[in-house]
Amino acid sequence: MHPALYWIRRDLRLADNPALHAAARSGRPVVPVYVHAPDEAGAWAPGGASQWWLHHSLQALAEALAGHGLTLIIRHGDSLAALTELIAETGATAVHWNRLYEPARVRSDIRVKQALKANGIEAHSHNAALLHEPWTIQTGSGGDYKAFTPFWRACRRQQPEPPAPLPVPAAVTAPAGADALPGAVDPGRGRTAALDALGLLPRVDWAEGLRATWQPGEAGAGQRLSAFLDQALAGYHDGREQPAVAGTSRLSPHLHHGEIGPRQVWQAVQIRLAEHGSADGRGESAETFLSEIGWREFAQHVLYHHPAFPDEPLNPQFAAFPWQDDPGDQLLGAWQRGETGIPLVDAGMRELYATGWMHNRVRMVVGSFLVKNLRLPWQAGEAWFWDTLVDADLASNSLGWQWVAGSGADAAPFFRVFNPIRQGERFDAEGAYVARWLPALAGLPAKHRHAPWQAPAAALAAAGITLGIDYPHPLVDLKESRQAALAAFEQIKKGA
Ligand SMILES: Cc1cc2nc3c(=O)[nH]c(=O)nc-3n(C[C@H](O)[C@H](O)[C@H](O)COP(=O)(O)OP(=O)(O)OC[C@H]3O[C@@H](n4cnc5c(N)ncnc54)[C@H](O)[C@@H]3O)c2cc1C
Repeated sequence: MHPALYWIRRDLRLADNPALHAAARSGRPVVPVYVHAPDEAGAWAPGGASQWWLHHSLQALAEALAGHGLTLIIRHGDSLAALTELIAETGATAVHWNRLYEPARVRSDIRVKQALKANGIEAHSHNAALLHEPWTIQTGSGGDYKAFTPFWRACRRQQPEPPAPLPVPAAVTAPAGADALPGAVDPGRGRTAALDALGLLPRVDWAEGLRATWQPGEAGAGQRLSAFLDQALAGYHDGREQPAVAGTSRLSPHLHHGEIGPRQVWQAVQIRLAEHGSADGRGESAETFLSEIGWREFAQHVLYHHPAFPDEPLNPQFAAFPWQDDPGDQLLGAWQRGETGIPLVDAGMRELYATGWMHNRVRMVVGSFLVKNLRLPWQAGEAWFWDTLVDADLASNSLGWQWVAGSGADAAPFFRVFNPIRQGERFDAEGAYVARWLPALAGLPAKHRHAPWQAPAAALAAAGITLGIDYPHPLVDLKESRQAALAAFEQIKKGA
């Protein structure tokens, strides 16, 4: 029988994988193939941290596939050309894949589907990544949603419970000779040359903190979900706001790379509620957590309907915003390195650089500081996050930055400038988060950790801190820079 190709993209898992499932159910032998085609992501090819993740996740997937008798084939270059070549090599007559929703991917997928069909190959795309595909949720007048609450309400109304996740295919076979195809990867037998040749790992090894923090792959995703359900779901409603504690799921890089899907997360939460009941705030916490999954859906919805969203403000008024000159990227560099002299901002930026992840509350604070106190374009922050986050996701990153900048869908109003001292005192009251990422400040009493420049000289001396040497002076005055931001905002309002 002619084989079917299972074309792998950001769906690096075996369970709840409709494309793999359909290929297996067709009864044909299956050839799983990953085509590395970063150019097809347009200007947004995966950044350094994402590439590190992808390498390890592909390795984990190759091992899992081998456990089911399948060999992962890795190819590089134009997707259509690579698939066409593999079709010729294997005699495959069908290709299955799971859909992606970024504008550049949508364009290239249409091209691939049309070309395959024109050549008499069956081409089937499936939904693995979302509860609600972007075109299925519409306002009463048939448009797209620009605000989260009505969007999520419409989602819940349309489909109160998502379909149950699919199991790992029980019976799937490989065609004879699959492991001799060019690009075959089998880590168990030391065959990783095709994966290594993609060059996804950094040449200078900066990834130690990432290795210590994460386990890319489907098994790592499952462990992360179980740990969250056991330890943090019940207290999520409040715990999610405290960066010093593990109060959130940290599933974002696993969800982004498709090592786990939202249907699986949804079902796991429901099972947990059924087992333990929804009293003691557990139900409220579960609802809040599921609505965060809803924000992920909303981000995809907005990007799908507004393809320029990663680059241009959704509210065009903001295109004329008078950003600050930053010769030599002095301000931007200090922000990136976590050397602004504002502890909560610096702690967040260092957590990001060390682990590839940052707590959501702190993402909002560092973003507000960049865009409002430093008055640097949100696109500069978006680009840095893109390169350094292991969960860098075009839709969620654009949504987050345009939210911070006040220019996006359901965004924070521009005049809401986060005060990083107050945010720290409120959400990191003990200063534990700041002390973890800025050990230089750990000797200060908690009440001074969020504003060391306001600490009495004796407290600084007792902690062995000389400002400007052990920890920077603030890069800007928070009050003055806030006023300047509000004045700049008035300027674009007048121009509108
Ligand atoms: C400036 C900025 C940039 C961001 N960039 C990204 C990004 O590139 N990739 C990314 O996945 N998230 C991004 N976020 C959203 C959010 O910060 C992360 O999803 C969250 O911190 C991930 O941690 P978690 O998995 O523990 O989240 P949890 O609180 O456990 O939430 C569960 C899941 O819901 C989704 N989610 C939660 N909050 C949001 C949100 N606000 N928007 C979209 N999805 C959400 C994520 O998939 C997350 O894994 C950004 C937020 C801001 C303010």
